[in-house]
Amino acid sequence: MASDTVATTLNDLPGTNVEEALVVDVNSTQWQDSFDVIVVGLGAAGVSAALEAKESGAKVAFIDRFEGGGTTARSGSVMYAGGGTELQERLGVRDDADSMFRYLRNEVQDAVKPATLKQFCEDSAENFSWVTSNGVTYSGDLFPRKTSYPVHGNSLYYSGNELAHEEEARPAPRGHLADGIKSFTAFGPAFIAPLIKSAKQKGVTAIRKTRVSRLLINDAGDVVGVEAQQMTAGAWTLFQHKMWSTLASYSQIYYAPAAKGFRLKLALLEKKFTKTVRYRAKGGVVLSTGGFILNKEMTEKYLPKFKRAMKLGTTGDTGSGMALGVSVGGIAERLGTATAWRFINPPVDWPKAALVNLQGKRYINEALYGATIGTKMMEENNGEAVLILDKTLYDDSVANLNLKNSRFVTWAQAKGAVRMARTADTLKELAAKCKIDPEQLVNTVDAYNAAARGENPDSLGKKQEDMRELTTGPFYAINMSVGKGDITSVISLGGLRICEGTGAVLNTSDEPIQGLFAAGRTAMGVASNAYVSGLSIADGVFSGRRAGKYAVKRANGDDVSADRRLPMTVDVKQDTNEIEGCES
Ligand SMILES: Cc1cc2nc3c(=O)[nH]c(=O)nc-3n(C[C@H](O)[C@H](O)[C@H](O)COP(=O)(O)OP(=O)(O)OC[C@H]3O[C@@H](n4cnc5c(N)ncnc54)[C@H](O)[C@@H]3O)c2cc1C
Repeated sequence: MASDTVATTLNDLPGTNVEEALVVDVNSTQWQDSFDVIVVGLGAAGVSAALEAKESGAKVAFIDRFEGGGTTARSGSVMYAGGGTELQERLGVRDDADSMFRYLRNEVQDAVKPATLKQFCEDSAENFSWVTSNGVTYSGDLFPRKTSYPVHGNSLYYSGNELAHEEEARPAPRGHLADGIKSFTAFGPAFIAPLIKSAKQKGVTAIRKTRVSRLLINDAGDVVGVEAQQMTAGAWTLFQHKMWSTLASYSQIYYAPAAKGFRLKLALLEKKFTKTVRYRAKGGVVLSTGGFILNKEMTEKYLPKFKRAMKLGTTGDTGSGMALGVSVGGIAERLGTATAWRFINPPVDWPKAALVNLQGKRYINEALYGATIGTKMMEENNGEAVLILDKTLYDDSVANLNLKNSRFVTWAQAKGAVRMARTADTLKELAAKCKIDPEQLVNTVDAYNAAARGENPDSLGKKQEDMRELTTGPFYAINMSVGKGDITSVISLGGLRICEGTGAVLNTSDEPIQGLFAAGRTAMGVASNAYVSGLSIADGVFSGRRAGKYAVKRANGDDVSADRRLPMTVDVKQDTNEIEGCES
């Protein structure tokens, strides 16, 4: 891992608005209130930590800078789950934890230890049941084909690259899509709103409009509480704060230029109308403040290749949780890792075409998931991607583009892209129009056609059934490059190094920082290498529950040293079999 993607001091994390930790005397400090567990940030990870801790009998509070919900509340509400979830069973899908593990390890690689991934897969069905027991509903059917996001009425679909890895793992649909509002969309709070409601009903204390700005530690360096900036002014100011934060988070997703103005208004309110408060955490503080994609300084520093992509996040995604962890000796890593999304399906025919860069070279199996394509496009191909079709494929894609198999937004964007397509009688003329290397494009399409005819295997591993020969002119080029047509968006994936057995934040010597835990996009997790739809929320549930559970154990004075090295055997070839890195 390159050292410039690691942060160990607050200077390494500019723009987070977090102060160095403060040593306090627990007994003489004026605490606003005291809890067993304080969860900082209420997204998928935070609500899971809070609920888990509450269900274990602890006194729990969440603190959120805004209303709670975070980026999770603006997400597609897809949770990646498998191993025989109740929804898979209802819809007659056969799956098991081993197949899920065999598939996911291609995506997750070394972001977590194999044993942790195995645990994630083995816990998956139970985590899904836990989510439904807390009110999230899934009443739809199975969408049996590959798509970037299924049409209304479907709750389960192939949300990753499962169908491209059939040889290694039996594929199963694992994208679990929470019920949305009628036929409109599941985008938004479908997943998280019921969980927040459940947390409230179970007695989790809500502390909103409060930004945690530093950690409080004792002489030994253990985390004992948090200091925060709390909105104080009257009802009208609080209403404005809610309004600007809601508008900022919606507009960042749907019309990003407007979001800046709303964020500025928020910053002014927060500057003028806050007071400093302190809350005591006896067992632990869980950091679950999301990622850092809306922190301009950090994205410029760590994600320069993704600069031109649309930043997909909400106002709280400033990396403040990572900075809080680093302020007490933690280490944030993989800060240069991100996922960029460039979906080319639907229409179902587009992935059968050839996607090239401006050198005229293909660089990815076009049938793969949009985040796999987009990340490769941004990281290795200067954000360039032009889809080459022949007349037959183009006509089919236009004919198959309808609202029966794609959602309105996808349909509208694809319609626009089709209209903007360039066309020419020959590939060479088309290349000239698109500033693509003409000789190379002809060679690329020749090789592609040979593989489509089954004369030789595709160099990028695309299955013959996913390919179509491109022979009938005129030819068409649809520009998929960043900033063209449909949106390419990006989220950050790096986070704090944690003990994978307990969720405790580790210091640079790989020892747990007492009283501090992290989860979701603030921490390293199963989604920290690559993303397929639903993996971030699923990781939030898995890591959030783990952090909540161990924060309570610490509050109860339980000995968790054995759990720090879980003796889990991974029955797959010679994979390692222990969770390491947090012995002390
Ligand atoms: C449009 C879109 C669609 C997506 N679709 C999916 C999907 O379907 N499935 C999936 O798995 N992923 C999806 N993602 C990604 C996913 O939503 C996020 O990665 C995930 O929700 C992050 O969850 P989290 O709990 O880590 O953080 P968040 O949900 O962002 O929650 C963090 C919370 O912390 C609060 N906070 C931040 N700083 C502070 C502070 N200093 N003090 C107090 N509070 C603070 C914030 O206000 C926020 O409420 C999508 C993302 C977007 C933008």
